[in-house]
Amino acid sequence: MQNEYQSVRAIFDPERLQVYIETYGCQMNVNDSEVVLSILQKAGYALCDKIEDASLVLINTCAIRDNAEQRILGRLEVFRLEKKKNPGLVVGVLGCMAERLKEQLLAHPVVDLVAGPDAYRDLPRLIAAVTADGKQINTILSHEETYADISPVRMDRNAVSAYISIMRGCNNVCSYCVVPYTRGAERSRDPQTILHEARELFANGYKEISLLGQNVDSYNWKGVPGSEQTMDFADLLEQVALIDPSLRVRFSTSHPKDMSDKVLYTMAKYPNICRHIHLPVQSGSNAMLEKMNRKHTREWYLERIESIRRIIPGCSITTDVIAGFCGETEADHQDTLDLFRKVGFDAAFMFQYSERPGTKAARHFADDVPPEVKTTRLNEIIALQNSLSLESNRRDIGKVFEVLIEGPSKRSDKDMVGRTSQNKACVFKASGYKAGDYVNVKVVDCTSATLLCELA
Ligand code: SF4
Repeated sequence: MQNEYQSVRAIFDPERLQVYIETYGCQMNVNDSEVVLSILQKAGYALCDKIEDASLVLINTCAIRDNAEQRILGRLEVFRLEKKKNPGLVVGVLGCMAERLKEQLLAHPVVDLVAGPDAYRDLPRLIAAVTADGKQINTILSHEETYADISPVRMDRNAVSAYISIMRGCNNVCSYCVVPYTRGAERSRDPQTILHEARELFANGYKEISLLGQNVDSYNWKGVPGSEQTMDFADLLEQVALIDPSLRVRFSTSHPKDMSDKVLYTMAKYPNICRHIHLPVQSGSNAMLEKMNRKHTREWYLERIESIRRIIPGCSITTDVIAGFCGETEADHQDTLDLFRKVGFDAAFMFQYSERPGTKAARHFADDVPPEVKTTRLNEIIALQNSLSLESNRRDIGKVFEVLIEGPSKRSDKDMVGRTSQNKACVFKASGYKAGDYVNVKVVDCTSATLLCELA
């Protein structure tokens, strides 16, 4: 068991070439960095946790908002100082920002190589070519690449939860979103390779798997060319849930226009599929949803919520929302607040609109909501959501939940942190338990972000 376990974990080996990797953005980027590490370990590298020890620094980037990109440009300035100390240091930029800015990023004095999300197999060649010939770039997007045959090398520290990408890219073209341009067209990954990876993780001690895609509900494996074999997301979810009843299964992200009752009934059938759905709404106004090209209405969204509540009682629901999209009026904003009250989300990721160059919104709509109005509206949404989260958590007081322990709390190593099936964080005292153990806890108090519990 110990040897198999090592086979999927990062190698820390001072005798090898050292690579330092920083990852920004979504869970898919975290999983992409694990794919990159797998490719580099085979090319003779080992992961290090200090830039000073590295001969190669890779930064896996996010382009979803301008401030994400500004943060990465700030990190490149830090790498500039490292390069002064170690002129042989190779600096590579990967991911969505690499794909969006291409040669513009390569022209940055610190950057030696730029590789887009579909070019990671080419990294060993690109790195060698930097040493021989100078700066290198590969930002070619693929219609086939899913890295299906690459077993990601896990960089997490507790070996409890792991991500598995089941698809890449997105065909939806929401008007504000840069993802279809940076990650390319949608492709579903061969389910046999997904199941193999999930079984291997479970055999190596992992207790929770998150299936990842930009829009998991449109997962559709058409099988080998010429064959009739197909598999949709509900079928895949069922196959992963069947690996073992003690393996928790999560998934993200769902799209309201595609989330089917078949997926909901599959969740209801298997207790180990976690009772949590992240269902981005983006706005509560039909006018904004149309302009965003979301392809669903407010009424459709509320009907999907009703189906979740009916088919999976006790399922938590979280969302994403954008405040101040192009042309958003006060009435549109009030529609968003009203939808939040109607649904009573358990949690939300809330942002103000940030125009991304090249998107349909940037090309066709004026970014005309003044910044101070965007901020006011965002603050109103945050205040409302905080009270909804607190209400949701208060309803849990007195209830008992099974929690998967993630490890000691950041605030006190006398306390443990774990998550309920609903993805709520619980803090409790539990001596004699460790990360990866399941334990029953009773909720005795709460904040808007955390359930305060005792062993049940
Ligand atoms: S579904 Fe829309 S928001 Fe999500 S990645 Fe695709 S285009 Fe972007």
